[in-house]
Amino acid sequence: LIPVIAIDGPTASGKGTVAQLVAERLGYHYLDSGALYRLVGLASSKVGVSTASEPDLIPIAENLNVNFQGDRVFLAGEDVTDQIRQEEMGKRASEVAVHTGVRNALVSRQRAFRQKPGLVADGRDMASVIFTDAATKVFLTASAEARADRRYKQLIAKGFSANIQVLLQDLRERDARDANRSNSPLKAVEGAHHLDTTSMTIEEAVNQVLKWHQA
Ligand code: C5P
Repeated sequence: LIPVIAIDGPTASGKGTVAQLVAERLGYHYLDSGALYRLVGLASSKVGVSTASEPDLIPIAENLNVNFQGDRVFLAGEDVTDQIRQEEMGKRASEVAVHTGVRNALVSRQRAFRQKPGLVADGRDMASVIFTDAATKVFLTASAEARADRRYKQLIAKGFSANIQVLLQDLRERDARDANRSNSPLKAVEGAHHLDTTSMTIEEAVNQVLKWHQA
């Protein structure tokens, strides 16, 4: 069985950064499952499909022409890495993600990332739905204020403008939508290790996950 490390948690918790570094340290593959929902958000907006229209979103999710190359993401050959990182796409992603048909359309695509020698997958339902037999399950959180602050610094570093109060408000809305949806709401599974990174460095978080995985 190919080992999986499942890292779930709320938006901007730092799970993407931690997951990528853990994958690097172990030489494992990496799945950013949120990117798939962001891509459905982007692909649907390009063709004028509303995030409320599940029947129109399903074929878009099924036929996503996506390519991950290192840390770049290509949609139908176009480098959309920066576009999908924008707040607007995070919002659209969480809106398309409430639809069961959209989630189902992305299942096999996510499982295909499980290849030797192993996989680190980050998202909301990695441990609860996609990789229920993951060797190591981590539920990674941080306070809303810490997450808004991290997201703010990320956006500024990339040259985007940002307002910390707006970010805080937006991530609270997104948390609520992710936690309250009827299908695969965000919550820790039994047996998951809880990691609150509010006052932790990235390095400390990475080492903790590695320790759990190697125990
Ligand atoms: O992790 P990220 O912020 O990129 O995810 C964007 C949105 O995609 C989340 O707010 C969530 O609604 C959705 N998502 C999901 N299941 C996942 C990953 C992301 O529903 N496994």
